[in-house]
Amino acid sequence: MKVVETVAELRAARAQLSGTVGLVPTMGALHDGHLSLVRAAREDHSAVIATIFVNPAQFGPREDLSKYPRTLAHDLQVLEKAGVDLVFTPSPDVIYPRGFQTWVDVTEVTQRLEGEARPGHFRGVATVVAKLFNLTQPDGAYFGQKDAQQVVVIKRMARDLNFPLDIVVCPTLREPDGLAMSSRNVYLTAEQRAVAGVLYRGLNAAGQLYASGERNPERLRQQVLRTLRGEALVGPEYVSAADAVTLEELHTISLDPLLLSAAVQIGSTRLIDNLVLPLELNNRADLSRVMGG
Ligand code: AMP
Repeated sequence: MKVVETVAELRAARAQLSGTVGLVPTMGALHDGHLSLVRAAREDHSAVIATIFVNPAQFGPREDLSKYPRTLAHDLQVLEKAGVDLVFTPSPDVIYPRGFQTWVDVTEVTQRLEGEARPGHFRGVATVVAKLFNLTQPDGAYFGQKDAQQVVVIKRMARDLNFPLDIVVCPTLREPDGLAMSSRNVYLTAEQRAVAGVLYRGLNAAGQLYASGERNPERLRQQVLRTLRGEALVGPEYVSAADAVTLEELHTISLDPLLLSAAVQIGSTRLIDNLVLPLELNNRADLSRVMGG
């Protein structure tokens, strides 16, 4: 496994790879969720490139950039074991050199949900992902369902800017109590961690209601909220039942796939999670087809 830090080294190493290439962009502090993306890329392509970059442009001024977990030695070990061919670990000045002033702004699907809670977040995400696509020239790029709006934004950008690649969406990997694996879970105290599974329980309760025939989006949102309110330590920020293709909030009954998503605050930690309904769609092939269209 080759590890490179500069654009010149990356371009040279990329040119050595033969066959098709799968790209897995990450911010490091790797867990099994990240590795499931690597495994999917490995299955589909001759070579896999992973990137580790804590992207300052996608953090707000009051967010956790400086305390974001960094575990580079461990990350390189697990990537090598997972069969990654090339890892790009640039520093911020490699990605944003002096004078940098060109940004990718996806204007509509970024307005609500995470985009509303985190102004500028998706501009940072779209810009760095566009740069990584240009730098690594992948045939497929692998993203997690957990960051559902990110998938929709990247798909939109890839279409709008004519990036010739497939966007693949891998289902969310979870801890035994249902909590979605996340690098940010290490921020939770033991007491907070013990109740954090409620986010998945709420989404799943609404998923079961959907399975029993409920199609009223407001009743699905209410079911999630009722479950979340059962835990005093958990502060719901939003609960959304939106069209899985457009991310428009649903107010009338729709038979199309729906993205049920929520954000909560537990202490100073913000957690997000989602399910696509019907629940049978939460697999790689269907998510890649349905999310963002
Ligand atoms: P991050 O390092 O948090 O930027 O995540 C890198 C990629 O891994 C993103 O595409 C995430 O959506 C994906 N990812 C994060 N957590 C999970 C998880 N629990 N299951 C599957 N994919 C995940």
